[in-house]
Amino acid sequence: MRAKMEGMTSLDTSSATPSKPVGTSKAQLQARKAQVRPATEGWEQAKEPDGRPLLQFKSPRVSQPPVHLADLTLPERQAKLKELGLPAFRAKQLSVHYFQHYTTDPEAMSDLPKERRDDLVKEMFPTLLTEVKRLTTDNGDTIKFLWRLFDGSLVESVLMRYPGRITLCVSSQCGCGMNCPFCATGQAGLTRNMSTAEILDQIVQANRVIKEGGLGGKRRDGGHDAERVTNIVFMGMGEPLANYKRVMNAVHRMAADVPEGLGMSARNITVSTVGLVPAINKLAEENIPVTFALSLHAPDDELRDELIPVNSRWKVDEALDAAYNYYRVTGRRVSIEYALIKDMNDHPWRADLLAKKLNARGRGWVHVNPIPLNPTPGSIWTSPEPHVTRDFINHLIDAGIPTTLRDTRGKEIDGACGQLAAAD
Ligand code: SF4
Repeated sequence: MRAKMEGMTSLDTSSATPSKPVGTSKAQLQARKAQVRPATEGWEQAKEPDGRPLLQFKSPRVSQPPVHLADLTLPERQAKLKELGLPAFRAKQLSVHYFQHYTTDPEAMSDLPKERRDDLVKEMFPTLLTEVKRLTTDNGDTIKFLWRLFDGSLVESVLMRYPGRITLCVSSQCGCGMNCPFCATGQAGLTRNMSTAEILDQIVQANRVIKEGGLGGKRRDGGHDAERVTNIVFMGMGEPLANYKRVMNAVHRMAADVPEGLGMSARNITVSTVGLVPAINKLAEENIPVTFALSLHAPDDELRDELIPVNSRWKVDEALDAAYNYYRVTGRRVSIEYALIKDMNDHPWRADLLAKKLNARGRGWVHVNPIPLNPTPGSIWTSPEPHVTRDFINHLIDAGIPTTLRDTRGKEIDGACGQLAAAD
């Protein structure tokens, strides 16, 4: 469920700040004493010899796709063009075609010498993502793409239109090594890290679809030309901070102006993690103002050890300290993602404990986003009743924690949290 729980793929904020506590009568609270423990359903979690869930931090397969223009910095692209016997300024032209016009079609590159175009495209734009499937919601404002990569790996991205913005949830790894028991992506483990260009190409392909009018919920004037992805969330497949270097290269290129990159606002890029503490501290020093999200899902180690296996490496307090450090260094408010799971982590006392731990580190540095899991009848991984969700939120708000209920977009196309299991 990473894109799913952790990442919660398709989510975006929908402000819902209840003004009055609901469902907090003693009788109701008494009725909510159940404690469901995390357990896998229909698959067996890979374990370490000592019985703990297996964690994979390193990619087992080293093969990477052919080098693509988007893997390179602008000076590297210029050097490459020189190697190919062309003047350096051609690198800018090619970059504009890709990052601004979203095209790799030689026919569209009329500013390049005709006799070299095909070769250049072959050399600089090897095919990275081949569309296998596209699922669209009824009103067309959410699209889930299934991509096949050069080695047959399958990954997904989800494109969502919201009022005033277009969000793309991107994948950063093929599979995931974090082995969370609720997560479709983690079940098969980590296959490999995605390359910088594979990460970026998800955005360029989405922009092309938008430009061609493929995303529903059109603007009033019906135009598409100026529209593009405005917000990125690293909440698709994979743990982004386990693929640190390539993810950060991609982030820098997203934020760099054309022709170096896509010219997006770094603030609209959300990097999320289940809590790889050293990498969070490194991210704080990057000097790029991305939004940082910690997928916490439990404030107590007893539950989080089972829910998020990486908690055996870095405990709740260590992850929160690192999140606070991110705020301290960057001045950027941190998001805490909290997937609400019926009778597992939705207890009022957990809301109180979370608030206590956040307040202990200061005020104004954090925002909590509870996200009710998708309702799944018969599963332990299901959503709380609405009044329980409201109660949880009220406890946080009453403790002075800014809290926003988030929704999961794309349920009808299995593009919501926990449902991103790439399958042909
Ligand atoms: S296994 Fe990976 S993708 Fe799935 S929830 Fe955990 S960290 Fe996220």
